[in-house]
Amino acid sequence: MAGNKDFDLYRPSEEHDELRKVVRSLAEAKIAPYAAEVDEEGRFPQEALDALVAADLHAVHVPEEFGGAGADALATVIVIEEVARVCASSSLIPAVNKLGSLPVVLSGSEELKRKYLGPLAKGDAMFSYCLSEPDAGSDAAGMKTKAVRDGDHYVLNGVKRWITNAGVSEYYTVMAVTDPSKRSKGISAFVVEKSDEGVSFGAPEKKLGIKGSPTREVYLDNVRIPADRMIGEEGTGFATAMKTLDHTRVTIAAQALGIAQGALDYAKGYVQERKQFGKPIADFQGIQFMLADMAMKLEAARQLTYAAAAKSERLDGDLTFFGAAAKCYASDAAMEITTDAVQLLGGYGYTRDYPVERMMRDAKITQIYEGTNQVQRIVMARNLP
Ligand SMILES: Cc1cc2nc3c(=O)[nH]c(=O)nc-3n(C[C@H](O)[C@H](O)[C@H](O)COP(=O)(O)OP(=O)(O)OC[C@H]3O[C@@H](n4cnc5c(N)ncnc54)[C@H](O)[C@@H]3O)c2cc1C
Repeated sequence: MAGNKDFDLYRPSEEHDELRKVVRSLAEAKIAPYAAEVDEEGRFPQEALDALVAADLHAVHVPEEFGGAGADALATVIVIEEVARVCASSSLIPAVNKLGSLPVVLSGSEELKRKYLGPLAKGDAMFSYCLSEPDAGSDAAGMKTKAVRDGDHYVLNGVKRWITNAGVSEYYTVMAVTDPSKRSKGISAFVVEKSDEGVSFGAPEKKLGIKGSPTREVYLDNVRIPADRMIGEEGTGFATAMKTLDHTRVTIAAQALGIAQGALDYAKGYVQERKQFGKPIADFQGIQFMLADMAMKLEAARQLTYAAAAKSERLDGDLTFFGAAAKCYASDAAMEITTDAVQLLGGYGYTRDYPVERMMRDAKITQIYEGTNQVQRIVMARNLP
């Protein structure tokens, strides 16, 4: 697995290129055939999980010392990008495994790392990330979920909303208020297990896209957990949650790149085949210009995303700006490119007989989660290079 921390800012190494080939062929053979069905039926892509676990690609970011593949941030981006190229829902398996577990990687004790990263690396458990609540989305620090100390334990109560892979994951990083007088500095992070008494889940949300990725509420009803499940010190949970997003917004950018690449590849093939006015529509300059713009936007987004991945790997000081910029730019590009792909297929593009309408619906979420693109602009403005 690629693990070279000194890679060129903009150019993946030969190892990264090799990884891309491996993931692409696995994704085309074992994930793509189920993508339309998973979307249509709104079911979890079990085939994708099985294939990713069998190839050790389900949580590549886990460090080697905890039994993982030890992939660098760019390698993780490439895995997510190539899975998203065929099925965005499936790409949330490696992406959210990183999102959910990164707080433990960044701030957890040695014992927490050993206990929770090992099963994740083996494919025995998935990890989710619980920050958002019904009344605390963009203003996540306004959360109400509480964790109250009781001897050697904490007791958690509250509702987390929009939790990706809820119900499927064994482990949940939960941000909760431990000192209501301190707002964001009174928030702590904990690992909660699905099997902890008092944990339950809401009905799956009925969504526009990524229909194969379960999104549910997580209910915490007097969930009593040992105090050593706290990630880092009391009051550091919000800072850990934000530091995590600096890194994982790069993986949402990767997802956007993959979705856009899938749509561009499909449209490129279609315009060669489709004939109007006695010739392939690819012969019309109006069509060629659209494809040129799509490819140009995609490549600009890719360069920014890979630069951000390099910064994530090196823990550069300007990662906060770059993570937000990559996520915002790549997701906006993906929305434009997938919309243009539907346009290039004409009426056929508007039907479920072709994959581009699914890609357009899936692209939309990349502008919303891990902070909306308005929030990304707030983050960038506060961290201008
Ligand atoms: C499918 C899906 C999966 C998700 N997965 C997870 C997950 O796994 N874990 C998790 O914790 N969360 C998850 N989320 C939550 C997601 O991160 C939030 O939906 C998002 O942060 C926006 O919060 P909100 O929905 O409450 O919107 P709101 O915060 O209510 O925003 C509504 C609108 O107001 C805008 N807005 C808000 N504040 C400002 C401002 N200051 N300036 C300008 N505009 C502003 C927003 O950009 C948006 O357009 C998921 C969401 C979805 C839909």
